[in-house]
Amino acid sequence: MAITLPPLPYDDTALEPTISATTLQTHHGKHHKAYVDKTNAAIEGTDLADASLEEIIAAAEAKGDKGLFNNSAQSWNHAFYWNSMTADKTAPNSEIAAAIDAAYGSLDRLEAELAAQGAAHFASGWVWLVAKDGKLAVEQTHDAATFANSDSKPLLVIDLWEHAYYLDHKNLRPDYLKAVIEKHLNWDFAADNLAREGNWTYPA
Ligand code: FE
Repeated sequence: MAITLPPLPYDDTALEPTISATTLQTHHGKHHKAYVDKTNAAIEGTDLADASLEEIIAAAEAKGDKGLFNNSAQSWNHAFYWNSMTADKTAPNSEIAAAIDAAYGSLDRLEAELAAQGAAHFASGWVWLVAKDGKLAVEQTHDAATFANSDSKPLLVIDLWEHAYYLDHKNLRPDYLKAVIEKHLNWDFAADNLAREGNWTYPA
């Protein structure tokens, strides 16, 4: 049972002009695919051959297998990222809106915090919205680090690696973040993640 490359949840033109079809094709079809392929090559014929992606990530971390961790965690993070965006931004439902107001006072303030931490992050990584014991927080991770198996439940993520925005926004990461947050954040996905038992899992 190899790890799959899930299809994008929208057409490759759905996020234009924020994210061009060229960027999505390369990011999903080359970068994400390479992480999946390298994960599969590493687990083939091992006791992880039939494991879930979450189990592979945990085993790689436990063994200190940096290569397998990077490829498996990046596979997970990218699938979570595709789902964190949608062609037309959705609005928070009442449950997550209450959690946003409790932690940040308003949706605008939370989204400003996402943009600020995403812009301030040094080098490659991810900016996340997570829920810990029901309380929302914006967090950053470096390189491939992930909330896949965390006791903080990931709700949304934005890719901060240059490959996510350089073709469309050059070095202007804040412009990419602003456009993603204003036009494409999938608050329906965040609300589903907040409501579900346990953390989102990678499609089998
Ligand atoms: Fe990426």
